[in-house]
Amino acid sequence: MTDATRELRGRFTHVTGREPDGVWSAPGRVNLIGEHTDYNQGFVLPFAIDRRTTVAAGLRTDGVIRVASTFDDTPAEWRLTEIDAARIDGQLTGWSAYPLGVAWALGRNGAELASVPGVDLVIDSTVPVGAGLSSSAAIESAVAVALNELWGLNLPRPTLAQVGQLAENDVVGAPTGIMDQSASLLGEADSAVFLDCRSLETAVVPLGLAGAGLSILVIDARVSHSHATGGYADRRASCEAGAVAMGVTSLRDLDVTDLDRAHDMLDDVTFRRVRHVITENQRVLDTVRVLRKDGPTAIGPLLDASHRSMRDDFEISTPELDLAVDTARAHGAIGARMTGGGFGGAAIALIPNALLLEVELAVQDAFAKRRFSGPMAFTVTPSRAATRDDIDPIEHAAATA
Ligand code: ADP
Ligand code: MG
Repeated sequence: MTDATRELRGRFTHVTGREPDGVWSAPGRVNLIGEHTDYNQGFVLPFAIDRRTTVAAGLRTDGVIRVASTFDDTPAEWRLTEIDAARIDGQLTGWSAYPLGVAWALGRNGAELASVPGVDLVIDSTVPVGAGLSSSAAIESAVAVALNELWGLNLPRPTLAQVGQLAENDVVGAPTGIMDQSASLLGEADSAVFLDCRSLETAVVPLGLAGAGLSILVIDARVSHSHATGGYADRRASCEAGAVAMGVTSLRDLDVTDLDRAHDMLDDVTFRRVRHVITENQRVLDTVRVLRKDGPTAIGPLLDASHRSMRDDFEISTPELDLAVDTARAHGAIGARMTGGGFGGAAIALIPNALLLEVELAVQDAFAKRRFSGPMAFTVTPSRAATRDDIDPIEHAAATA
């Protein structure tokens, strides 16, 4: 048991007056490549990171769910059987909508909320909120694995990913895909998770960063442009219009051999939006192929091409993100791209370990020269998915077999 696990157990006891039944955690994620492809039923390649949300959980005998977080002093409390009505009445607001939403979504996936025991959840996290690392999927996935085990549901991980997505869509009210939860629930150390957003098939793809002496630096520009939401909706609409004009259900049905036809049929802006999605899907497939054949040192050009496509065709980059990417490349990164929905957020750079510090300093310097406010840069390590943290993994496997 790590110090953090022990500490959260102590916190649980402080809050509830008794010992927890267990401690579970789930990671945030970074998307290596595959941007704005998810809602076009395409491909993405995220990985779980070494920042996690941890949940200490203990059963109650009264059908009540009570959630507390170190992020917020006010706990929330509901009868499990009343969550659905509260959801319909719009009473589930704020951070507790994430864990309560997961309990509700488990109810839609086989948990009998009228008969399962109540539960106390005490939550802590090292995933920064709103930095593009999906602290939301981390909290959903940690709560999902905890309740799945405590309530004896035995739901498989891909179902738990859908549970997290359902909670976020229908309780929190954010129209997100299933990428983040898939990474958080299926990731492995030094690996990425390939996800086909149409079939929902997944595959773990070894990254081999450790052996190649490479690190991934996240450069959070800490600027969110006010048109982020509108811009996102606008890009989605362009993709839908492009698909309709091309006579397909989604852009997933097109590939690079359709680009000439698309160029003839679509107006310039729609064509460039469509070209980003088509080529980005191809780049995800190419990245998996190159990783398997030549390893991570060979994927740099694909990351670079992804950034150019988002900058020039999809037009979702910002001067800060372009500067971060260009500076990282000029100082030894073997590839770099903005990551996430765009109009702000973060960039990632793949960097030989020996050059990490140089790149970081160069980016700080370049931002200062342009009078951009300081970026926050930190490395992330591709890490394992959600786990139970308070007992030995071998004992745990034997107990749950
Ligand atoms: P992100 O990009 O980090 O996923 P979101 O807006 O999707 O940003 O989700 C962040 C929200 O998730 C927070 O505002 C909060 O409501 C909830 N959240 C995340 N982590 C925690 C936590 N440890 N405790 C309580 N709420 C959390
Ligand atoms: Mg989120």
